[in-house]
Amino acid sequence: MLTTEDFTLMPEGLLVPLAGRVGRCPRCARTGVEARTESGMDYVHVQTSEVMCDGMLVEPQDCCVTLPNLPVSLSLVLFES
Ligand SMILES: [Zn+2]
Repeated sequence: MLTTEDFTLMPEGLLVPLAGRVGRCPRCARTGVEARTESGMDYVHVQTSEVMCDGMLVEPQDCCVTLPNLPVSLSLVLFES
């Protein structure tokens, strides 16, 4: 069964089981849940989750990258633009 979770409809501070606490995205100011990825830190706004026989498959549908793992010089350029 595929379920869609829309964190933008949830109030800031709400604790979502398995996802985390809802906070405000520094990039687009909508509410979302922080998610750590190999490329840095994302703010997930909408995700789908599907229960599989061997676990749960979670896929972000709408997210912002808030803290990319970039060298300092590159991240300065990014934040100025
Ligand atoms: Zn965002």
